[in-house]
Amino acid sequence: MDAKPDFYTVSSIIAGRSTPGSRSSELYNPATGEVIGALSLGDKSAADAAVAAASKAFPAWKERGPSQRSRILMRFRELAEMRKVDLAQIITHEHGKPEVDALGSIQRGLEVVEFAMGAPHLLKGENSDHVGTGVSTRSSRRPLGVCVGITPFNYPAMIPMWMFPLALACGNTFVLKPSEKTPSAANFLAELLQEAGLPDGVFNVVHGGSDVASALIEHPDVKAVSFVGSSAVARSVYHKGTAAGKRVQALGGAKNHAIVMPDADMPNAVSAILNGAFNSAGQRCMAIAVVVAVDDAHEKLMPELVQKAAEMKVAAGSDADCEVPPVTSRQQYEKIVAAVDSGVTDGAKLLLDRRDPQANRDGKGYFIGPIIFDDVGREMQIYQNEIFGPVLAVMKAATLEEAIAISNSHELGNGAVLFTNSGKAAQIFERDILCGMPGVNVPVPSPVAYYSFGGNRGSLFGDLAAHGPDGINFYTRRQVLTSRWP
Ligand code: NAD
Repeated sequence: MDAKPDFYTVSSIIAGRSTPGSRSSELYNPATGEVIGALSLGDKSAADAAVAAASKAFPAWKERGPSQRSRILMRFRELAEMRKVDLAQIITHEHGKPEVDALGSIQRGLEVVEFAMGAPHLLKGENSDHVGTGVSTRSSRRPLGVCVGITPFNYPAMIPMWMFPLALACGNTFVLKPSEKTPSAANFLAELLQEAGLPDGVFNVVHGGSDVASALIEHPDVKAVSFVGSSAVARSVYHKGTAAGKRVQALGGAKNHAIVMPDADMPNAVSAILNGAFNSAGQRCMAIAVVVAVDDAHEKLMPELVQKAAEMKVAAGSDADCEVPPVTSRQQYEKIVAAVDSGVTDGAKLLLDRRDPQANRDGKGYFIGPIIFDDVGREMQIYQNEIFGPVLAVMKAATLEEAIAISNSHELGNGAVLFTNSGKAAQIFERDILCGMPGVNVPVPSPVAYYSFGGNRGSLFGDLAAHGPDGINFYTRRQVLTSRWP
């Protein structure tokens, strides 16, 4: 695939073959609003064909030893490393984010591939001799069969790589249903897997909307579903999938709070909050959406934060100086503008408003600069709902305990960050914060590949998070054999 052809069509890839659908939707460049390609949409029959291809490929794939499977992933990693700039350009073209961010996310995805390459070790079981007279017991991990991944628009290469490298390394076959907004990265990855020697049918991509996703979730031959996306859909996928007897991990949305203590290193806190709230236009599940300033941290933090946010460069992701890229779709743009309007109506104080229609090249691109609201109340829509844009809500708390209680009371519990110079405050935060991925003095506390990634409450439905040890548990069934040889 070319990095940026003038106009292209993206089709499903089933059993190693490009498989067009009967309908199509348009793909847009978020920096210009122009139509850049077409997505050929599959339907239920495409979902059925992909599951049939994956089912057919499963017996031979699971019979390969873990080392043989790992070698294909090693080759895939080498190819992806060589072609990562092309892949980053494809992501920027459809998503809008700066190439450097796209490259960073590819790197994070490839770290999961590196973890998965350790499958020969990770899949080892346990053994106990003489658990009874002449009796021994051993445990092993076995693949499940066909696994499905349904992924969001914001990390079109990294989030699929949270899933399929471990699923394949564990001996499963896979069907990926990418976002309709940013579909090309999935095909690029499928082509690299094919080039790396992955047999046809082991990894399939079916493009389409919620109808295709539902057909996959409900398919009787699908054993496990990994979902990442908004919370409402995650909840419904979890209920549908588990009701159909499948294993489901469904990662949802986020409203990550940054708590700033008066003793924090303020320049570090400012730069981390700017990064966490506005880079990638806030379209990250680990983005900072709320600042809770404790005691007089507000006076120390806000003037510089607002001034620097006002200076951030809003530009196309292909611009080397871009700090705030456009958001990915017109729909997302309109949702963010409506959220800002609701904040004003609800009485929050709009400290910085960089909604600038001029920046949108006569209304065509989807640019929104940093927006900062102060005096935000917990009852307001801009606080309660995930906005998924460059909008920061600022609140005050008298104490650390009050700030932690605010964060814990939110429906979503993905990440939370504390900025402080006090080890004691950091210990209290670590002990009392209710979220899956807390951080101290860092902008985006995303766990590395050999730990697991996932939140609490409305941010994760299911017990097992993505990648790391949870990934191995999710993609295998445990078996414990007890034997005697009289
Ligand atoms: P989305 O929920 O709209 O879509 C995600 C995927 O689900 C897409 O492939 C979509 O086609 C599919 N889908 C849509 N409706 C469906 C339905 N009814 N049944 C089954 N599948 C359906 O999310 P999005 O807008 O693409 O992505 C943004 C969201 O993802 C944000 O809420 C963000 O916080 C979240 N996200 C979470 C994480 C995390 O780790 N928790 C990571 C990245 C993004």
